[in-house]
Amino acid sequence: MKKNSTVANTDLMQNITSLAKRRGFIFAGSDIYGGLANSWDYGPLGVELKNNIKQEWWRRFVQQRADVVGIDAALLMNPKVWEASGHLASFTDPLVECKTCHARLREDQLIDRTCLNCKGKDFTPTRQFNMMLKTYLGPSEESANTVYFRPETAQAMFVNFKNILDTNRPKLPFGIAQQGKAFRNEITPGNFVFRMREFEQMEIEYFVKEREWEKYFEHWLGEMKQWLKDLGVSEKKLHYVDIPDGERAHYSKRTVDIEYEYPFGQKELYGLAYRGDFDLKNHMQASGQDLRYTDTETQEKFLPHVIEPTWGVDRSVLVAMLEAYHEEDAPTAEEGESAKRVVMKFPAWLAPVKVAILPLSKKEELSKVAKPIFETLSKQFVCEYDETQSIGKRYRRQDEIGTPLCITVDFETLQDNAVTIRDRDTMKQERILVKDLAGEATKRLHV
Ligand code: ATP
Repeated sequence: MKKNSTVANTDLMQNITSLAKRRGFIFAGSDIYGGLANSWDYGPLGVELKNNIKQEWWRRFVQQRADVVGIDAALLMNPKVWEASGHLASFTDPLVECKTCHARLREDQLIDRTCLNCKGKDFTPTRQFNMMLKTYLGPSEESANTVYFRPETAQAMFVNFKNILDTNRPKLPFGIAQQGKAFRNEITPGNFVFRMREFEQMEIEYFVKEREWEKYFEHWLGEMKQWLKDLGVSEKKLHYVDIPDGERAHYSKRTVDIEYEYPFGQKELYGLAYRGDFDLKNHMQASGQDLRYTDTETQEKFLPHVIEPTWGVDRSVLVAMLEAYHEEDAPTAEEGESAKRVVMKFPAWLAPVKVAILPLSKKEELSKVAKPIFETLSKQFVCEYDETQSIGKRYRRQDEIGTPLCITVDFETLQDNAVTIRDRDTMKQERILVKDLAGEATKRLHV
């Protein structure tokens, strides 16, 4: 069997991008107008995949934990937030322009100070380029009305810290979580959804007593490892990089970048940082509000320290797709079909469609049985109903979108009230009574 490990790295990115477009996972943004550089739109399957990731994360880290609460804050915040957090002054990348081809590049990404575009070696002096996206509120474009799209979701958790203390009265350690869009005017976006200017994050600010930070840092590292395992990511492609002294932010005593071997190189997937009390301290000073926590036993007032695990949603989608992609020799290839079968082997919880209901023909006798099956099962699982094309082509399509179970309704069904259930990975088909379908699907999908 040919596995994705044998698919050349450059081909793999190409295969994923073209499958994403062909099957409706991810389209180029503003496509009919020639696109908008490096913007991407999630299609019908992509939005299911992305929502599965976001919903599982929310269930796991917010709803199923007594010590974490969620928020959903505004994208636009008072500019004073970004002044206090340091983003206005220093959320910058070093920008240079190639004097030969005028490409704008990140200086820290140059290899041997050579232009990635034309191999030129002459650059303008480095200038710090602020990555925050600016816009204006109100009917005039005056600097007084300037606001910024948030470059991260994290600051909203610090800004709402006092609200959460006042309303929830949580005891340390506790976390505030958020999912949502973030915007960065990246100098060099690219590699599909790896680096975009508009993307989504899932972040937790987990507040602890200072003396306990190491214990909870380890706890979140463990949670992130387990998450990656459940996402179907092979351990050998992951690297937990401890950022050495001198390269970390000055307030952080430990930062781990979780890197993944993408086809275009080993780069960041997620991050975990111990941020001390840097953020709360700055916001307390800048806002003039008392953000201290009161220990109910000792009545001591102090600023908690924080552990920040952060996940990129789009990079999660990309990695899930890269890991799921398999090419195998097809046991049976119909006319006009290639001899290889492409299968997205998503873990069942992640698959955008869980069950496909495929009547063998469009004849009414079959749809009379198949449609009620769809109606029943789709109350529990995301299902697809497809009666077009040959059954072989329909299986191919379902394999390519990673549907774990296909149910075929045929003419025998009319006699025996049974259907064929086909497993995506083994391709094994079994006959099963219609009345047992919901139970069987639940068992097989582990839901
Ligand atoms: P990088 O070094 O790749 O620029 P970063 O260290 O700036 O990333 P963080 O500020 O730690 O990233 O952001 C948290 C997470 O958000 C990252 O781990 C990543 O998953 C995601 N992320 C950051 N920038 C982008 C982007 N431009 N497009 C898509 N996802 C991103």
